[in-house]
Amino acid sequence: MTQPRNKVVIFLGPPGAGKGTQAERLAREEGLTKISTGDILRDHVARETELGQRVRPLLDAGQLVPDDILIALIRAYLAEMEPVRVIFDGFPRTGAQAQALDMLLEELGAPVTAAPLLEVPDELLIERIVERGRQAAARGEAVRSDDTEEVARRRQQVYREQTQPLIDYYAARGHLRQVDGVGTMDEVYARIRQALG
Ligand code: ADP
Repeated sequence: MTQPRNKVVIFLGPPGAGKGTQAERLAREEGLTKISTGDILRDHVARETELGQRVRPLLDAGQLVPDDILIALIRAYLAEMEPVRVIFDGFPRTGAQAQALDMLLEELGAPVTAAPLLEVPDELLIERIVERGRQAAARGEAVRSDDTEEVARRRQQVYREQTQPLIDYYAARGHLRQVDGVGTMDEVYARIRQALG
């Protein structure tokens, strides 16, 4: 049975589109838990766990981590959640991940609520990522090892090949909400709120 308090939002969009920032704010205002697979994996790398050591070369190269690892991670997170109130940032990224997520959500009686897609032109994306790296460095903060122009371009290519097809997947199910991701953070956030109704 579907429980009315359940809410599942899936943020789609290329690397550098601003998913993390927007998802964070929406999670705060809506009382949802943000699950960012990139943050979870980077945390494992920083703590040098067994998983972290295994995935580090992939993150550094801008390659995807194998589906079975991600699916097991998400399964464990969702198992603890009741009701299921969640925003996904960076998951699913492949067709296999999307199908596994649908099966998990069906088991939990918590279907997808909506999948906002942040649309930003390619030229702007690399600029934003490289700028993010520069600003973190200027503040004396840790710079993501994959926020270099070269790896960012690789991530963009991986996105095009593996993740972009999910747009059709969620459109076919009536979940897709296209949002213009160009503008200030407040402007984009307002559009997301509107798109989610
Ligand atoms: P961005 O979207 O800005 O490129 P993320 O923080 O979402 O960055 O992800 C960083 C890296 O973590 C990816 O390049 C990939 O190596 C790994 N990763 C994150 N989420 C997934 C996922 N769902 N499937 C496979 N790999 C992932």
